[in-house]
Amino acid sequence: MKIAILGSTGSIGTQTLEVVRAYSDELEVTALAAGSNVDLLEKQVREFHPKIAALWSKEKADELRTRLRDMDVRVVSGMEGLLEVATVSDSKVLVTAIVGMIGIRPTLAAIEAGKDIALANKETLVCAGHIIIPIAKEKGVSILPVDSEHSAIFQSLNGERHNKISRILLTASGGPFRGKTRKELENVTVEDALKHPNWSMGQKITIDSATLVNKGLEVMEAKWLFGVEYDDVEVVVQPQSIIHSMVEYEDGAVIAQLGTPDMKLPIQYALFYPNRRYLSGDRLDFSILNQITFEKPDMDTFEGLKLAYEVGREGGSLPTVFNAANEYAVDYFLKGRIAFLEIYEMIKSCLSAHTKIEKPSVEDILNTQSWVEDYIKSRYK
Ligand code: NAD
Ligand code: MG
Repeated sequence: MKIAILGSTGSIGTQTLEVVRAYSDELEVTALAAGSNVDLLEKQVREFHPKIAALWSKEKADELRTRLRDMDVRVVSGMEGLLEVATVSDSKVLVTAIVGMIGIRPTLAAIEAGKDIALANKETLVCAGHIIIPIAKEKGVSILPVDSEHSAIFQSLNGERHNKISRILLTASGGPFRGKTRKELENVTVEDALKHPNWSMGQKITIDSATLVNKGLEVMEAKWLFGVEYDDVEVVVQPQSIIHSMVEYEDGAVIAQLGTPDMKLPIQYALFYPNRRYLSGDRLDFSILNQITFEKPDMDTFEGLKLAYEVGREGGSLPTVFNAANEYAVDYFLKGRIAFLEIYEMIKSCLSAHTKIEKPSVEDILNTQSWVEDYIKSRYK
């Protein structure tokens, strides 16, 4: 099977390539896209021989093209490049391992071109789920979750499609600041926020895990992927990240997927679905593992989750404002320009200044993102 990857140099992208390497007799890479890492993308092209390689910046793409003169590969750049990778003629699946709502246009283009989507890029679904899901249905393409919680839910729905779900129980680790008070969060540093207790991931999602915005985005992601209402998605803090999520049915039965934290499992489940494949690595050892604990999320301190439920319920362009504001806020926080709790302030300030659009088109979504950018730039000089 031939696959294309958006974001091949990142955390999910490189782990996807590890899966390809382990199953090179079954999987083949036909196009790769990344942001700016020329060295790593060059290595990846030399190892996996895609037909197309894309880098976001034109200068970096030019450099890559020069370096790869001896190879038979087309090097492209910018949004055009992402669209080319997303729709490359011979791919069956697009793995969206790119970060942020930049993924919206390429994901839609891939669906239009009939590609199945192995979806890690949750921001795209949060902003444009109301457009993506109907088009995917119309085109008959599958959207297979890569996010570990959604993969767990997907696995817990196996053979149960005709049965009524009463609740989705979305588990959360609680992040590095679980149990902290607002006061204690005032002075946390970027370094503290980047220390996730259980997962090693890209910087943006790691900060989102510390604010619980990630869990909020995941609640919206679950709504779109599984066609449920917000009242039917409950977040359960499970600090050890062993239960990756659960589904409760109308008879009260709860089905869960458990395992050690390893993103290669959901990645390869999405690529080989409905089949499972051997994955090396640690197994859960129930003789050592003596407890799995649960807590309620603290939504007053970690407002990101509460805000996400609110914007999700309101719908329209509000999830886009929430997500776009968070993307800029996280960037500002990582650059040391704002404090941790100001991430929430920035999101709230954008939400209250915004005039809601009921059913935003792709253009409305991208315009809303530009509005958020301008608004933040004018307020936080
Ligand atoms: P990352 O920062 O490690 O990687 C992001 C990738 O996107 C990189 O290859 C980067 O070069 C590329 N990229 C960024 N901007 C680009 C642009 N303008 N053009 C082309 N490429 C661009 O991020 P990640 O942790 O791998 O996360 C990727 C997505 O997967 C996110 O949406 C995240 O929420 C989701 N996700 C990640 C994990 C995880 O374990 N890392 C788990 C669940 C979901
Ligand atoms: Mg997740």
